[in-house]
Amino acid sequence: MSIRDNIEYINRLKDEAAQKSGRTGEDVLLVAVTKLHDADEINEAIDCGITDIGENKVQEILNKYEKVKPVRWHLIGHLQTNKVKYIIDKVAMIHSVDSLHLAKEIDKRAAQHGLTMDILIQVNSAEEESKFGISSEETEQMIRDILENCPNVRIRGLMCIAPYEEDPENAAVYFREVKELYDRYSGIRHPNLDFKYLSMGMSNDFQVAIEEGSNLIRVGTAIFGQRDYSRKMGE
Ligand SMILES: *Cc1c(COP(=O)(O)O)cnc(C)c1O
Repeated sequence: MSIRDNIEYINRLKDEAAQKSGRTGEDVLLVAVTKLHDADEINEAIDCGITDIGENKVQEILNKYEKVKPVRWHLIGHLQTNKVKYIIDKVAMIHSVDSLHLAKEIDKRAAQHGLTMDILIQVNSAEEESKFGISSEETEQMIRDILENCPNVRIRGLMCIAPYEEDPENAAVYFREVKELYDRYSGIRHPNLDFKYLSMGMSNDFQVAIEEGSNLIRVGTAIFGQRDYSRKMGE
């Protein structure tokens, strides 16, 4: 299967899942996750209609940035505060904000560049020790703290990485919890709080995530094939 075939197939599944939740595939943004894939592969995906790409490491963005055609970049992995300055003017959105400390650094760097950075708050609804993100209960306070302290940050929604499940249906409960939180803040209009994105679903579970209300999926393997970790690009 080529990258083009894979994208077409995913778009079909995305559409089917969206219809099950009363929407269409156009209501769900496909972010192609390009970590450990090179600029040629990424450009091929862009030629097939991909408009948004996701990377989990700052260094990989820097390595590929000049070689990749114009596209919206998303930082989806854990972000260390000392690296915010390298990507603040390169990414459209940061999905992985899980502390006020990080949000403040994003705010500071955004101010220096005269921009407002769109962010998502990462919610670890399954409360897995191995994953980053705050608990569902902490979300309200995090939103309040960011609104109070970070005028150059705009909270656009929530992000969740569900535990890997052999049967992805088992992840539905974790997605549902984050969707409930998302709905709670969606109606609020505030210059720095304007929910638009619920980032949930990866290769293994994106159909379930969409059925539970996700409107942004982050898909890597199902587009590009298995990642070759021996490549360790940008390490
Ligand atoms: C790697 C990654 C993905 C994509 O995972 P696949 O299983 O390859 O689709 C999605 N989200 C995050 C945060 C990732 O690091």
